[in-house]
Amino acid sequence: MPLVILDRDGVINRDRPDSVRSLAAFEILPGACEAVAKLTKAGHNVAIATNQAVVGRGEMPREELDRIHAYLSMEVEKIGGKFGHIYACTDTQVEPNNRRKPAPGMLLEAMTDFKSPAHLTLFIGDADRDMEAAHRAGCRKLLVRTGKGEKTLASWQSHWGEPLVCDDLAAAVSHILQTPDFWSAP
Ligand SMILES: [Mg+2]
Repeated sequence: MPLVILDRDGVINRDRPDSVRSLAAFEILPGACEAVAKLTKAGHNVAIATNQAVVGRGEMPREELDRIHAYLSMEVEKIGGKFGHIYACTDTQVEPNNRRKPAPGMLLEAMTDFKSPAHLTLFIGDADRDMEAAHRAGCRKLLVRTGKGEKTLASWQSHWGEPLVCDDLAAAVSHILQTPDFWSAP
């Protein structure tokens, strides 16, 4: 079963320059929950890998982050979707845990947990650190134009390979589900 890992801010919900610091500031992007539900119903494992240094910096309690993720999970479950796991890194530095993106820690953890080989694992993100993390984890990557996506595309690093770009999460999921050999080994 393929594994699709999603970045959160700028992919599922509106990115905010000062981070999302409360459930009230958490705004789901149009079509995002429906896109997750489509992946679930088509037999994919779906997870989230999100940097949340806002917690590590003491600007938001961990309980509020959990509340946001409980709300998001509920919205997705209402329409038949499911997050297998939400990986959130509250570290403010990459070292010593190597989980904070652009380090690949959370992605490798997910690939181990879901027993998902690299070619059956896709990370969808909007920022350069997402693409770098996917590159370092050795899994596949897809850039969305929402959030920091346009900026990331403009400064695309050649060592990441050819960019696969979609307008938003909904378009990305349509692309995955409508490409018959999408999950064939490259
Ligand atoms: Mg992001």
